[in-house]
Amino acid sequence: MNEKGTASPEYMRMSLAAAMTLGFSHGSFYRDAHLHCLNLLLDYAEGCYANCSYCGLARGSKDRGKGDSFIRVQWPSHELDQIINRAAARGGDFQRVCVSMVMHPRAFEDTVNIVERLDRELELPVSVLANPSSFTDGGMEALDAAGAGIVTIAIDAATEAVFEKYRGRGSGGPHSWDAYWRSMEEAAVVFGKGRFGCHLIVGLGETEQQMVETIQRVRDMGGSSHLFAFYPEQGSELEAREPCHPSQFRRIQLARFLIDYGMVDAGVMEYDEHQRLVGFGIENARLDGIVRSGDPFRTSGCPGTGEHSACNRPFGDGPASDIRSFPFALDREDIELVQRQMAIYREPRTEAGASQDIPVGS
Ligand code: SF4
Repeated sequence: MNEKGTASPEYMRMSLAAAMTLGFSHGSFYRDAHLHCLNLLLDYAEGCYANCSYCGLARGSKDRGKGDSFIRVQWPSHELDQIINRAAARGGDFQRVCVSMVMHPRAFEDTVNIVERLDRELELPVSVLANPSSFTDGGMEALDAAGAGIVTIAIDAATEAVFEKYRGRGSGGPHSWDAYWRSMEEAAVVFGKGRFGCHLIVGLGETEQQMVETIQRVRDMGGSSHLFAFYPEQGSELEAREPCHPSQFRRIQLARFLIDYGMVDAGVMEYDEHQRLVGFGIENARLDGIVRSGDPFRTSGCPGTGEHSACNRPFGDGPASDIRSFPFALDREDIELVQRQMAIYREPRTEAGASQDIPVGS
């Protein structure tokens, strides 16, 4: 996976945005999209032992080892000592640091040690993006003791069928749907309300109703959901698949915002015959105000010092020219675009082909 023969825990990969913020890489942020979370990723010569169909780090990915791409952006590798020194010197640039696990025999032990270091040496709250398949017994307690403030389970798939197809048996991967939910339950007990959650990828084949029900399930446990729009990664098994259409993602973003902020329960939302959201269970004037704020369409992630997510992952789930999760406040044109996108209803995807746009009311 890494070409320099370097590996965790001495080395970590980081998002290109983090590398730019720390001065390891050069470039400028589109529309001044500053990064507020230092996202780090474990890195091993053997790569990730799992085989998720949508992931560029997967065992079977054609591009694994050719570059440093993950969730569509570059993830360069640098010495953890240097990362910590530079992050400490940047003071208020970051509001949070996050360690993402991969599937590897050393991943859990290294994560605990790295979290301890980050907690000791940086004045930042620490998140862990956990891979339960790498956990040992008592794993949540060990992460809590090491100083992790939030644990997020990278469940990604909203239904068991989608999970099995793209992460479990269907892809020859090691992950188990039941084990992931057991881990979520353990996180709820050990970390408690507001200190755990999950990642969910929208557009892997689940219906809108199924995604909303999973978001509510996590909320009922005391956690929150951080959304990603599916966008095909080069070299992955799903590289030719159509990205999640913005219309589907916008409705799910809005539903998640209403559920996770306790404004609406999924049970009162309404769906059409294809399980697409047609009613959000809230009066139109209030809903309109929420949409016009633009807040539901910003990146959802672990919190920072303000009211918005620290983890804003600039352009991690779509190109800058076709933004899915907005890493900054939306302007008037963005909001008008989002409103147009939400009004589109597409023919449900078939395995064989693309979908078709049907503006609502036509
Ligand atoms: S939302 Fe961001 S900070 Fe939180 S676990 Fe996911 S990647 Fe890490």
